[in-house]
Amino acid sequence: MKLFQFKKYIAPILALGLFYACEQKPQSDNTKNSAVLELMSKMSVEQKVGQMTQITLGKFHEGGQLKIDLLREAIIDKNVGSILNTNGSPLTVEQWHELLTVIQDIATKETVLQIPILYGIDAIHGTSYTKGSTLFPHNIGMAAARNTDLVAQSAKITGMEVRASGIRWNFDPTLGIGRQPLWSRFEETFGEDVYLTSTLGGSAINAYEEDGLKNITAVASCMKHFIGYSTPQSGKDRTPAYIPDIQLREYYLPPFEAAVANGTSTVMINSGEVNGVPVHASKYYLQDILRDELGFEGLAVSDWEDIIRLHIRHQVADTPKEAVKLAVNAGIDMSMVPLDYSFYNYLIELVNEGEVSQARIDEAVYRILKLKFDLGLFDNAYPEEGAKANFGKAEYADIALNAALESITLLKNEGEILPLSKKTKVLLTGPGANNIGALHGSWSYTWQGDAEEAYNEGTLTLKDAMIEKIGESNVITNAVADYKDATNTSATFVKNNASKADVIVLAIGEKAYAESPGGIDDLTLDESQLQLVESAMATGKPVVLLLAQGRPRVISSIEPDVKGILNLYRPASQGAKATMEILFGDYNPNGRLPFTYPKNTGDIVLYDRKHSENYKESEPDTYGLGGFSPQWAFGHGLSYTTFSYSNLKLDKATIGDSDQINVTVTVENTGDRDGKVAVELYVTDLYASVTPGEKRLKKFKKVEIKSGTSTQVDFQLAAADLSFINQNSERVTEEGEFTLMIGDQQENFFYKK
Ligand code: BGC
Repeated sequence: MKLFQFKKYIAPILALGLFYACEQKPQSDNTKNSAVLELMSKMSVEQKVGQMTQITLGKFHEGGQLKIDLLREAIIDKNVGSILNTNGSPLTVEQWHELLTVIQDIATKETVLQIPILYGIDAIHGTSYTKGSTLFPHNIGMAAARNTDLVAQSAKITGMEVRASGIRWNFDPTLGIGRQPLWSRFEETFGEDVYLTSTLGGSAINAYEEDGLKNITAVASCMKHFIGYSTPQSGKDRTPAYIPDIQLREYYLPPFEAAVANGTSTVMINSGEVNGVPVHASKYYLQDILRDELGFEGLAVSDWEDIIRLHIRHQVADTPKEAVKLAVNAGIDMSMVPLDYSFYNYLIELVNEGEVSQARIDEAVYRILKLKFDLGLFDNAYPEEGAKANFGKAEYADIALNAALESITLLKNEGEILPLSKKTKVLLTGPGANNIGALHGSWSYTWQGDAEEAYNEGTLTLKDAMIEKIGESNVITNAVADYKDATNTSATFVKNNASKADVIVLAIGEKAYAESPGGIDDLTLDESQLQLVESAMATGKPVVLLLAQGRPRVISSIEPDVKGILNLYRPASQGAKATMEILFGDYNPNGRLPFTYPKNTGDIVLYDRKHSENYKESEPDTYGLGGFSPQWAFGHGLSYTTFSYSNLKLDKATIGDSDQINVTVTVENTGDRDGKVAVELYVTDLYASVTPGEKRLKKFKKVEIKSGTSTQVDFQLAAADLSFINQNSERVTEEGEFTLMIGDQQENFFYKK
């Protein structure tokens, strides 16, 4: 790597205070794992290419039955090295063990080289495909909780439950930042902020891998989807993104830098195209940035069918074979093919024809086999009996409950309508009121998460949890599980029963969906649901909304007359219980929005906007619709108590490169309930060579404060925290004045080299 590149990319990683990330150098044979090299010396081209081939489990099923012959064909004849996924429905731990035993038996007893299979799975917010596992709020909710410990605890449990299922590779976490709320995978992101995403993503990776991959509590993590997937211009999944280099490095790259610094073992590549180049075919992204700049040494797996799509969808390759050549030469190590052997067949031909070098194949196979060794698969390929004890522990539900409690965000509480008394007569309806999937979203026992019957027995809907909380006689409801059933939006039911109720609670939002099937053309909430809210408001009873949704659906037409609003995100297995704890005052809410909640579908302006995005043609704004006017700002989130900030102190007025500012602030709970609050530190760069953002989140800390008491919160800020990407795509910190803000407190300081 050239010195210029080292300064540009590695220095900032170190300066950002992340863990050490080493410069990528071609590894000489004596620094490589000798067992891997020895094994590779015995391998034919076919055996090597087989290791690079990943096939989905469904390929080995016919009529719902596993066909051993098809498995044998893959593992013995085609030398397949990796398998993924379920065949559509979740399995029990025992069933996973049986399946993995059959697979590893074939791989380690019936093949010449006896190389174990690397099995990968999407355990996205918990162990999605094992019956009885614990599911945690999706990342969007975890980001609202602003609690790195909770992310780490959830990832740890997920890792243990995946490993207990006999699987050692988890395709998680998602590190694309959620700056395009139309996108159907918004719920899988940690929201719009780069620091929040880097910190929480890093925390998840660390938890997955910190015990060492051989340990029965660990799994290999997978940072995904590298890079630029989360911001399709149209909002539709897997459609083009256009990201200038300066933005790529300012917003999209840092979470991946943090992931590498936290030691992630693998990466999955973005299915989409950035600036007209599919990432799967891009040496710039896959070699220059991922390897040379980030120093990533692990395994790069394609996403689903994405090499084939270089030909059939993106049309950068005029044949399927050319697509394989492009992708492998660009830097893909393993192809999630996943439904045929085209990759295997073409790649063998390409190597024999000299179109793909032996060295490139060796590089890929080394990474794959090294991971298999690191995971202990060569010591014991089979599901580990000892790991089973880490599955389904009762205390996991407590962590899931805490995560849901800390994420749910109180957006509105007019006249302190909330919390409700437990004696309240509640009319509860809306499509989300009796639907488990709406509380879970994607990757929940099924891919789409919308199969109610696939959920664990005993999982509560909002209706069940409300009845449990305040008794059946206090709940007037008609809600049925089918999201599409008109009963759930029946204005007649609301009209006929409102007189018996003190308050109307409507569970609205979005049913569960995953990936492209969740695509929408309009952020505005569905008309039928808006009409339901209007009919509730027309009764004159106070209306409270529970928003179970993966992205912020626009509700500005009805919001002004609604009294209380809780955003639940996808709170998952303990979500219904957590909602009722908050609704009826047993828990004081403390979630804060991890995104800017738009008021209008055509007005997506984010919190760290440029100053010019605040612009209005005139003041007052007679031309209309100018300035920054979200429904709720990033960081918004109410409590049943009040907090005040005072005494903001910086221990120096000027910092240089080698020191840091110690910041302290006093936070007081001035209300009459104990509560938690996420204290956030923002910085504004007053003047810079690239237009500075309005403000940027730099630190956060969740603290618990008893009513009537105060606590001092401290932060450390370094010069690197003030850095940004300049016009030459370099990370720099420029001298000048900055404003630091916590709550309503602010102080200015200077940075001088
Ligand atoms: C998704 C990935 C996922 C893969 C395997 C793809 O469609 O984009 O996030 O890991 O499927 O299930």
